[in-house]
Amino acid sequence: GPANHGVGSWPARRARISPHRTALVQGDRTLTYAGLAHRADRLAAALTRLGVRRGDRVAYLGVNDITVFETLFATALCGAIFVPLNHRLSGTEIAYMLADSGASLLVHSADADSLVAAAGPLPPVLRTADFDTVAGDEPPGAEVTFDDPCLLLYTSGTTGKPKAAVLTHGNLTWNTVNQLAHFDVLSTDRALCIAPLFHCVGLGQITLPTLFKGGSVEPVAKFDPGAILARIGEAGITGFAAVPTMLQMMCQDPAWDTADLSSLTCVLYGGSPVQERVARAWLDRGVRLLQGYGMTEASPGVSMATHDGTLDHPVSAGVPHFFTDVAALRAEQVVPLGTEPAELLVRGPNVFAGYWNRPQETRDSFVDGSWFRTGDVVRVNDGWAHVVDRIKDVIISGGENVYPAEVEAVIVQLDEVESCAVVGVPDERWGEVGAAYVVARTDLDPGVLREHLEANLARFKVPKHLFFVDSLPRNATGKVRRVELRAMAAAAVGR
Ligand code: ATP
Ligand code: MG
Repeated sequence: GPANHGVGSWPARRARISPHRTALVQGDRTLTYAGLAHRADRLAAALTRLGVRRGDRVAYLGVNDITVFETLFATALCGAIFVPLNHRLSGTEIAYMLADSGASLLVHSADADSLVAAAGPLPPVLRTADFDTVAGDEPPGAEVTFDDPCLLLYTSGTTGKPKAAVLTHGNLTWNTVNQLAHFDVLSTDRALCIAPLFHCVGLGQITLPTLFKGGSVEPVAKFDPGAILARIGEAGITGFAAVPTMLQMMCQDPAWDTADLSSLTCVLYGGSPVQERVARAWLDRGVRLLQGYGMTEASPGVSMATHDGTLDHPVSAGVPHFFTDVAALRAEQVVPLGTEPAELLVRGPNVFAGYWNRPQETRDSFVDGSWFRTGDVVRVNDGWAHVVDRIKDVIISGGENVYPAEVEAVIVQLDEVESCAVVGVPDERWGEVGAAYVVARTDLDPGVLREHLEANLARFKVPKHLFFVDSLPRNATGKVRRVELRAMAAAAVGR
């Protein structure tokens, strides 16, 4: 039949090397590589019978589960495009994504029943519980190359409406190679998949690399810090990828002190900044913790800390991935990245083909043809990258740039502070000033906070407004919803 070098062929290729090793395990369900290849083939035959053709979009809604992988590989075998959707969104948001992606089939698990009902008019639907009933015998045998799209992955929507990044089979393969060049993954590894699979951290950081290498992946449907800590010791988990809020919840959990973390050989995280004390808590336990920096558009890895350097640079985003180049945009010129903060540019075989159906936004996001504009301000110190902040979040106060992330890092130095976020609000005198939203774990005197800020930051960086709140609005991957906070702050100061 025609050649298929796409991600859909991974289970069968892996089954030639290690057919009896466990690919996926969850509760009492286990799939070997041979078993996964067989299941993906049969589901691909079913998808074909349901009308799915090359280039069609197959959407998925549901919690992390083995069925996500079955659907991903089956869709890829058809040469069709997998569109995993965020099951924590509203029906309206899902309806937008189904229409935007033009999905011709929606696959979903039972946990998404009510969300699917709320999403309104739907394309044809396949429930995961019906996989066995629809399974067929004639796999499609589609031709798939590295240049064909494999995944439409929606960005987190932190700066606006989520956009679907078109990731090709080549993008995902090269990201996997990049990750494997950076840290060790073995066929005897056992990774927990705790970050959501509809987001690039869940899929790209450790999960696909582990399946490529023939290790085992255990999807976790619901993030429960105590249960995860117990599972690590119980199952001899060797690694996982998380977002920073997950790491924080785990090291603040009552089970933290007694948890057996000795099996962990690698813990990856990324997606937003981490508090230094959270990174230290993990490193102090002897865990080999690595920060990754990236974005949906880069499949997602751009840079990562190294095992040799992470102790010296606990909150740095490390060095560029193997096949990925970085540069800075300064005065519209592509220049080497330096110690002065500048917008980071990325180029490489893991960088996406463009946004789905958004030619203008795709053009605007590249300079000099192949450099992707990340929208992030980065500086380099000793060759290590530090993510300063997003350009869109920078506060310009009296003509000076204030990076909220820098102010936040100072605020969370206080033991009384659990987390915080700083946003800009309009100000008559300065144009814009900072407003800090602080979640305190114990009583915190605003005077003490102000004193701490004034002692550690230049005057123009100290937020003019301080608000104490019970929690910060966050999205499914733990990112602070700054658009919402900015509106709250503007309302609070009467602008
Ligand atoms: P949208 O593009 O829709 O506004 P988003 O940028 O949050 O949302 P993602 O692709 O999930 O969507 O996130 C990528 C962004 O997350 C990066 O551009 C960067 O701003 C931030 N980020 C990723 N890793 C790190 C990290 N290690 N440290 C700090 N920020 C990070
Ligand atoms: Mg983005």
